Amino acid sequence: MEPKKQTIVLALDGLDYFLVKRFKLKSLQQEVNYKIYLKEFPILSTHPIWASIISGKLPEEHGIKTITRWKNPVIQYLNEFLSKRLNLLKNTDQISKNILVSDILRKIGFKKIPWGKDYWRKKHIATIFDIIKDSIAISVPTWNEDRVYQLIRKELVMAIGDKKRMKNLEKLLLRDFNKKKRLLFTTIKRKKYNLVFCYFITLDTIGHMYRGDLGKMKRFYQLFDGMVKQLRETFQGRIIIISDHGMKKVGNYGDHSRYAFCSFNFFVERPKSIVDMFHIITSQS
Ligand SMILES: [Zn+2]
Repeated sequence: MEPKKQTIVLALDGLDYFLVKRFKLKSLQQEVNYKIYLKEFPILSTHPIWASIISGKLPEEHGIKTITRWKNPVIQYLNEFLSKRLNLLKNTDQISKNILVSDILRKIGFKKIPWGKDYWRKKHIATIFDIIKDSIAISVPTWNEDRVYQLIRKELVMAIGDKKRMKNLEKLLLRDFNKKKRLLFTTIKRKKYNLVFCYFITLDTIGHMYRGDLGKMKRFYQLFDGMVKQLRETFQGRIIIISDHGMKKVGNYGDHSRYAFCSFNFFVERPKSIVDMFHIITSQS
C-alpha cells in the first residue's frame, strides 16, 4: 500500500467553474480540474450539499435539506415542505426564499439550532471527520460552522441592492478571508493532522452581490488564486479544491448554479457526482 499523505481541502462556497476558466486562474485549476453537475439536488442549498460532501450520502439519506435546523420536528418538516414549494417560484433568489421561510417561522416563536456534530452523532452517520484520524475542520457547514456565517447570510439578504450595506459586507468578508487564511496556514504549520478541511463563505456572498460585475468578481477570485499559489509552494501533500455549486447571473446579482468546481494536485478521474468527493478525500488520508 502507498504511504498515507496529508490532505488539505479548500472548501470554497460558490466557486464557479466557468469564472475560474474565464479569469484563467492557474493555481485554482491545479493539475486536474472538473465541473460537476448537481443532478441529485432539487434545491441548490449550501448546507445539504456540504452535508453530502462530508458524509458521502444524498439529502434523502443524511436528512439535511434546509439551511435552518428547527428544534421542533413538525416545524422542520414544514420548512422543508415550504422550501420545496417556493422553489417552484422562478426569479426569486434561492437564499432569500430560504431565509424568508425561516424568518417567518422564527417570528412566530420557533427555536432554531445550528446543524452540527451532535446531529451526525444522533443519526449515527460517520463523516470524514470521524473516519480520518487527526482531522481538523475549520468552520465547516453542518459540522462546526463559524456562527458569524449565519449573520453574514442574513445580512446578505438585507444588503442586496443597497450599495452602502453591500460595501460594508464586502469589508467584513475581506476581514473574514484574512482571518481564515491565517488560521489555515498556522494550522498547517503547527498542528499534527492527516486532513485539514477549511471552508470559506467569501465567493458565495460576493457572487450573490456582484455576479453582474466581472471586474469585482475577478479581484475576489484572484485573492483565492493567490492563496492557493502560496499553499502549493509550501505544502507537499494532496490539495483538493471544491465548491458546492457555481454562481449564475440574475440581473446585476447572482444565484446558485448547478455546476460545482473541483481541482486536484494529483490525478483523479472525473467525479460522477459531488458525493464522490467524499470517497476521494477519504481514500488516501
Ligand atoms: Zn453555497
